[in-house]
Amino acid sequence: MDMQVSFLDRLFEAGLLIDTGVEGLYGRSGQFEDVIAAFERLIDRFGGADGAEAIRFPPGMNRAYFEKSGYMKSFPQLAGTVHSFCGCELDHVSLMKCMDEGGDWTGEQKATDIVLTPAACYPLYPTVAKRGRLPAEGGLYDLQSYCFRHEPSTDPARQQLFRMREYVCMGTQDHVTDFRQRWMDRGVQMMDAVGLTVEIDVANDPFFGRAGRMLANNQRDQNLKFELLIPVTSAAKPTACMSFNYHQDAFGTKWGLELEDGSTAHTACVGFGLERIALALFAHHGLDVKDWPAHVRKALWG
Ligand code: AMP
Ligand code: ZN
Repeated sequence: MDMQVSFLDRLFEAGLLIDTGVEGLYGRSGQFEDVIAAFERLIDRFGGADGAEAIRFPPGMNRAYFEKSGYMKSFPQLAGTVHSFCGCELDHVSLMKCMDEGGDWTGEQKATDIVLTPAACYPLYPTVAKRGRLPAEGGLYDLQSYCFRHEPSTDPARQQLFRMREYVCMGTQDHVTDFRQRWMDRGVQMMDAVGLTVEIDVANDPFFGRAGRMLANNQRDQNLKFELLIPVTSAAKPTACMSFNYHQDAFGTKWGLELEDGSTAHTACVGFGLERIALALFAHHGLDVKDWPAHVRKALWG
């Protein structure tokens, strides 16, 4: 049996993840959540003194912001939109009839003003842009959100609804690239503290189609994205558990993010894949946290 399926089955058997009948959509046990909560406190210990502004958005975002972000141009295959029934009573009768007959009732659903958040930082840029120019010291934000990506898989580390904790930095090129480097160093230290072996490598986003291949190559050539990789289901193909992204002035230009002197802000974001980190811990140290090495338990729970 392949390693991903067997690890998923073991997680189900241990009750850490709960099968919903849909690949990549799982319930989580209290124990699984406790590991994520403990790891988030570790993130706070490393990043708390930086004084980031904490903001929590729900897992859905303004569809108009999503459209403007260009997500559908780059990643249409991953997007999730929220649709609802908006008809009259007569339409409701046809809907019920269609469902009773086992037909496709979803075609009549209408798009709402909400789409599922694809990455925790997407709702932030328009929010900050609306406030006016950034302060002299730039901007630093602490985010966490469930994110949706339509990528059904039997790999437990590839989920359709998962949480991303992010720090986002806005400022000059030097300011945001220093921020990104600082978090690459911290990421390695943090994983070391919880007994996980990591490597950092240059990476690219899964841009759609033939034109996307060029964008991906360009992203790699310019070292715009790095990932921190940890073996979860495979030593040969380790899983990206953190990513470190430098957007240059792309989001600054798109959203009109300005520094104090009116120049366009550069931005960078650092993302923690919280479920992936929890899964890496379970894969490495075993499915029972009581059996985890003492130094790992201490780093997480004190
Ligand atoms: P990305 O924006 O693709 O760099 O994603 C940020 C982080 O979220 C990654 O480094 C992963 O740790 C995590 N992540 C991305 N996609 C998934 C997924 N399908 N399931 C679970 N975690 C994910
Ligand atoms: Zn981001």
